[in-house]
Amino acid sequence: MDRGQRGEPPASGARLPAPSSESGRVLSLALGAVLVALLVLLLAGLPSGRGELRTAAPPPPDAGITPLDCQFLLARARAEGWRHLELPPGRHWDGRPLAVVAWSPADALVVIQHAPRVECGSLIDARLRDSRFNAGVGTVLRPLAASGKPIEVWISPGTWEHWAVSVVAGDPTALQRQDGIRGALRIAILTAAALLILSAGLGSIISNSSVFHGHALASGLLAIWVAELSGVAGYPSRWLLPPEWSAPLGIALLLPVVGFAARALAEECGTRHRWPNLSSGLRGAMFASLPAALLVALAPLAWLPTLSRAVEAAAAVWLLLPLGIGLYCLRGAPRTAVGVVGAVLPLCLTLASSNWDPPLISAFRAEVTAATATWMALVALLMAARRLGIERDDLSRLSRLAFTDALTGLPNRRGAMAYLEAREGNGPLRAQKWVLASLDIDHFKQINDEFGHARGDQALRLFAETLRRARRHSDLVARVGGEEFMIAMPDADLAQMQRALKTARSDLQSSETVRSLGFPLRFSAGVVEQRPGESLDDLFEQADRALYTAKRQGRSRDVLREGAGRGSDRDRDRDRDRDREDQART
Ligand code: GH3
Ligand code: MG
Ligand code: MG
Repeated sequence: MDRGQRGEPPASGARLPAPSSESGRVLSLALGAVLVALLVLLLAGLPSGRGELRTAAPPPPDAGITPLDCQFLLARARAEGWRHLELPPGRHWDGRPLAVVAWSPADALVVIQHAPRVECGSLIDARLRDSRFNAGVGTVLRPLAASGKPIEVWISPGTWEHWAVSVVAGDPTALQRQDGIRGALRIAILTAAALLILSAGLGSIISNSSVFHGHALASGLLAIWVAELSGVAGYPSRWLLPPEWSAPLGIALLLPVVGFAARALAEECGTRHRWPNLSSGLRGAMFASLPAALLVALAPLAWLPTLSRAVEAAAAVWLLLPLGIGLYCLRGAPRTAVGVVGAVLPLCLTLASSNWDPPLISAFRAEVTAATATWMALVALLMAARRLGIERDDLSRLSRLAFTDALTGLPNRRGAMAYLEAREGNGPLRAQKWVLASLDIDHFKQINDEFGHARGDQALRLFAETLRRARRHSDLVARVGGEEFMIAMPDADLAQMQRALKTARSDLQSSETVRSLGFPLRFSAGVVEQRPGESLDDLFEQADRALYTAKRQGRSRDVLREGAGRGSDRDRDRDRDRDREDQART
C-alpha cells in the first residue's frame, strides 16, 4: 500500500493529534496580503497626481455640509481675532496661477482671501468636498501680475488645536501631486488596518486564543481611528460615525490603540514572568483605556483642545514603557527586543515630534501618525503569531518526546494508543479494521543475565529495526513494554500479518543476526483480526491472550485467536529442542 495513502505512522514517534499550525499559516498569508496591498496602493497613488483642488464644487446632496457665507466669516475672523497668516509674494506676483490650501485632520474654519476673492470652509466639511479626502480648504488664485498684496489666511480656534493647520501655497500641479500622495497613503493605511482586523479576526476564530481576540478588538479600534483621522470616513459621504463624533473619537481612540499595543508588546519580552506587578499594571491600564477614551469622547467640545494634548502626551509616555522594556531585553532576547523597539519607536517619535513639528512630519502628520500606529499594531500581531508558533513547536516537541521510546525510537505504549485512537475517529484516516499482533521476545531475561544489559539493549534495538523493516509503510510498530512490542495493521488481513511476522522471524534467526548479536532472537506472537464492533481494548486483550497461549505452547510461534495457527505437538517439540540448542550455544 502507498506510503501516505493510509496515514503512515512516523518512523519514530507516534503521529499525534498535533496542534494545528493552520492559524500561523493563515496569518502569514493575510499579513503578506497587507504588505502587497500597501505596495500596490502606494504605487498606484504616487504617479497619478490627479487630485482636484477645488472648493467651489457643490457638495454632494447628502453630505450634510452647511454652506458658509465667506464674507460673514471673514468679518467674524477679523472681529474675533482668528489666527492670521499672510502669504506675501517674493517681490511681486508674476501673474501665474497659485494654489493655496489649508489642511489639518482636526476641525477648524479657514478663510482664504486675496483682493476681492474670498474662499472659506470647514476642514471637516472639506473632507467631503474633496475627491481625494485631503481634508483641505483650498483655492487656485491668479494674483494680479506686479501686485505685491499678500494672500491672507484666517484660521478659527479649532477643536483640536494641537494639530496645527498647515497652509501651503505654490504651483497647483505640485500641490495636486502632494494631494495624490496623501490620498494614496491614507487609503493604503486604512486598507492595512482593515486587513489587520481580518488577520486578527481569522486568527482568533482559528486559534480561539485570547491573544488574537485582543488583537482583533484593538485592530477594529485602530481602523476606526485611522478612518476618522484620515477623513476617509467622510468620503463620499459620512459612513462611519456621525460628524459630531469625528473629532472626539479621533482624539480618544489613540488611548486604547496605544494601551493595547503597549501591553501586548511588553508581554512579548516576558514581562509577566519577570515583573508580574508591572505586567498587571499594564493590563489594568489597557482595560482602563477604554472608559478613559469614552470619557474623552463625551467631554464638552471646549475641552477637546486641552484633552487632545493630554491624550497625546499620555500616549507618548505610555509607549516609553514597552520601549524601555524592549531595550532591557535586548541582551537576553535580541530578536524580540528589536521587534518591540522597532514597533514602538516610530509612533513614539511621531508623537514626541509634535512639540517641535519638523516640516516633513508636519506636512504629513495625519498620515505619519496613522501609519506608525498601524505599523505598531502590525508588528505586535506578527510577534504574537511568532510567539504562539514557537510555543506550539515546543509543545509538540515535548509531546513527541513523551510519546516515543528513547531506546528504539519507536512509539511507546502511550504513543501507540494515541495513534490508534486518532484513527478510530471519523476522520479521513479512519481504519475500517485492524489486525493486531502482540509480540514478546522469548527468554529475554536469560539474555540479559548471560550477555549483560548493554547487549540486551542492542538486541532490543535490532528487534525494533527488524520489525520496522518487516512492516508495511502504513503499519504501526511500537514498543509497548520492556521486551514487548506491537504491530498494528490497518485494513489488512491475517495473512499479511503472518507474512510480516515470518519475515521478521527469519531475519532474527539469520546468521547475520547471530553474527552481530552472538545469538538468535526468538519471539512469540498473539495475532487477532478485529471483528465488526469490537473495540480496540478488546482487541488488545485478545492479542495478549493469544500471546500467552503461544508462550504456553512452547514459544517462538504465532497464535491466532481463531486457533488457526495453534502449534501442533510436533512444532512444540521442535521449539523445545531449539530452545535447548540456544541455551547450549550461549
Ligand atoms: P518469556 O519468554 O516468558 O517472555 O521470558 P522473558 O525472560 O523474556 O520474560 P520476562 O518478562 O521474565 O523478562 C523480561 C526481561 O526484560 C526482564 C527485564 O530485565 C528485561 N528488560 C526490560 N526492559 C529492558 C531494557 O530496556 N533493556 C534490557 N536490557 N532489558 C530489559
Ligand atoms: Mg515479557
Ligand atoms: Mg519475554
